[in-house]
Parts: sequence; structure tokens; C-alpha cells
Amino acid sequence: LNRRLAGFGTTIFAEMSALAARTGSINLGQGFPDTDGPEEIREAAVRALRAGHGNQYPPGPGIPELRTAVTDHQKRFYGLDWSPETEVLVTAGATEAIAASLLALVEPGDEVIAFEPYYDSYAACIAMAGGVRVPLTLRAPSFRPDLDELRALITPRTRLLLLNSPHNPTGAVLTPEELNGIAALAVEHDLLVVTDEVYEHLVFEGSHHPIAALPGMRERTVSISSAGKTFSYTGWKIGWVTGDAALVTAVRSAKQYLTFVSGGPFQYAIAEALRLPDTFFTEFRESMRRRRDLLAEGLRSAGFRVHEPEGTYFITTDISPFGEEDAYAFCRALPERCGVAAVPVSVFYDDPEAGRSQVRFTFCKREDVLEEAVERLRRLG
Ligand code: PMP
Ligand code: GLN
Repeated sequence: LNRRLAGFGTTIFAEMSALAARTGSINLGQGFPDTDGPEEIREAAVRALRAGHGNQYPPGPGIPELRTAVTDHQKRFYGLDWSPETEVLVTAGATEAIAASLLALVEPGDEVIAFEPYYDSYAACIAMAGGVRVPLTLRAPSFRPDLDELRALITPRTRLLLLNSPHNPTGAVLTPEELNGIAALAVEHDLLVVTDEVYEHLVFEGSHHPIAALPGMRERTVSISSAGKTFSYTGWKIGWVTGDAALVTAVRSAKQYLTFVSGGPFQYAIAEALRLPDTFFTEFRESMRRRRDLLAEGLRSAGFRVHEPEGTYFITTDISPFGEEDAYAFCRALPERCGVAAVPVSVFYDDPEAGRSQVRFTFCKREDVLEEAVERLRRLG
């Protein structure tokens, strides 16, 4: 492994999912639903396969039906206007969108400011792009970003702000005031913004506001989302980028040499999914809200300190009430101790002290599974 990727051996999700499988544990570590998304969308994929739609390479930027569905969706929910011809790029999940954006926009040595704890691929992709990551630490219990701290981190080498709201793993959702403050700094210092909004439809308190909609942001923001989270088809790996044509063209230059294209028939199905009525999105969010409440209450009753998330399908907890403080050791032992797997948040921080005792659980599982997991976790105490 080269120096840039040193330390990025195996993702924590793969490690903890393997441990869960080996021990037959309930896997509340890696975030993937245990119930597939709408059947009609699955049927749309089958129809596309049978009709031969997308069985050969789809167009580089994505099929026109999906690009138009993406722009119509952003218009419907946020009033944003993008051109389906030049301002949308379909990617192999949000993961490729993040990689291609950083590879396209970061020069070796450029500083990239990201909020830690970070989703694991951010640090790896900044490294692959030759960038220098500069963390802004979100601290428990509220995980709010301190904008004075952000201002102080900006240097002449700063190229880009990498945002994620709703935020994995903390569940924090940036408020309109915070977004305005961040946007003002980006404009003042002429920074690019790459914003990962894959949990856009999983906001339980307040609502989702895309930073691209703010004054001065359209021409400097690459927005990323994915069908995996919104439609519960994480295995299909259909994601997308929206942004000003010049930025999307740049991202596409990198993307074409990563995967070129992907997911032909699934692109047709997700084009239909994005046109589902508002009730689908509301019901999905409300069903996740019930699970959040169920797991939060259960974790509290099992003795965890719970940081209630405003969005995403994750809950970050603190294990100090158990008299333990090494989250990684705790997560390695948890499956043997009680048959539940989780993910240590500590590995998503550069500052090892900041997240030392934090453990993340996902609630994108059936309610009976969550209830059983809580039963098991209650035996810990
Ligand atoms: N960004 C965040 C914040 C995520 O949580 C995830 C997946 N859980 C991704 C990106 C990757 O999305 P995809 O599966 O579409 O590649
Ligand atoms: N994004 C998912 C999570 O945060 C996992 C995706 C992955 O395994 N790379 O759990």
C-alpha cells in the first residue's frame, strides 16, 4: 500500500460487519436497511433489464431520464434549477461522487477542511487526491460547528470545504444560520464547497436546506446525493452530483476514468423512484423517526448516554456510564458480550481524544430487530 493510503487498510464497516457475521450478532454497525425499498421500484429495474434498457454502457453523464428526474426532484423539494444536460452527473453511489469531486478539484498540497468525525471515505479520498485534511472538530453533546474556529482554520492554501448534512455519524443537521455563516466564509475566501447530502430525506428536527441554494453558492458548490439511503437500495450504487456546469464537467473528467459508467438498468428504476409522491418521502422519514425513538429510548434504558440525532439513521452514544472509554475495544468485544455489533466513532476523528468513548448504532432495521438488540444490550449493565 502506498504512503497516501497508509492507515486506510480495511474500512471499519467491513471489519465490524465481518465480526457481526462471524458471531451471529445483530448488526447495528454498518448502515444498510434490512428491508428493501419499494417493490414497484424493484419491478421497474426488472422491466428495464428485460427490455434491454441499460444492459450496455449507458451514456457517460447518466441516462437522460434519470438526469431529468434528479433536476425535477431538486426543483420539487428545494426550488433549485439545474440543467439536466450539463449540471447533473450520475455516479456509482455517493462514494464515487465524493472521490471524483476531490480528485477533480483538489491540487496536491491543497488544504481541505472537513468536519470530524468524518465519514471514512473523506479522509481516504482527500489523501488519494494529494490534499491535506484539516479537521474542524464537532464536539459532544451538541456537535455544532464553531464558525469562529472554522474561520481560524482557513489559510491561503485552503481550497475546499467538505460538508455533510445531515451528518454521519453524529446525526447533526446544519441550521439555516450555520449554513449562512459557512456560505459567507466560502464566498469571502473564494472556496469551493463539496456537500454530501445523502441523508437529505432523513431529517427529524427542522428541515434540510441545500447550501447550493444560498447566495453566491451556486457557482462554487458540488452537491452529492444517492438513491441508496432515500430508497433503501444501497447495493444498487446509484448516486449523483449536481452543480454549475463547469464544476460538473470537472467532476466528470475524473469520474470517466474511475468507473466510466455504472448501474444501467438501475438508473431507469431510480428515475421512477425520484418521481414517487411526497407521501413516500414523508412516510419513509416518519417510519425512521419511530425507529430512532425506539432505539434512543432502548439505548438509554441499557445505560448508554445518548446523543439524539436530528437526522440520518445513526445514533451516537457515549459509553462512559459503563466505566469504559475505549470505543474501539468496546466494539470489538460487544458481539461476544451480548450479540450486537456497533461502530466506534473514535476512528472517524483525527483527534483521538475527541471521540474516544463514542459508539455509533444504526436504526435502519426492523422494529422487532431493534427491540431484540435493546434486550441484548440491557444485559451489559
Ligand atoms: N456519504 C455518507 C455520509 C454516507 O453515510 C454514505 C453511505 N452510508 C455514503 C456517502 C456513500 O453512499 P453510497 O452508498 O451511495 O456510495
Ligand atoms: N455509509 C454506511 C455507514 O456509514 C456504510 C457504507 C460502507 O460500508 N462503505 O455505515
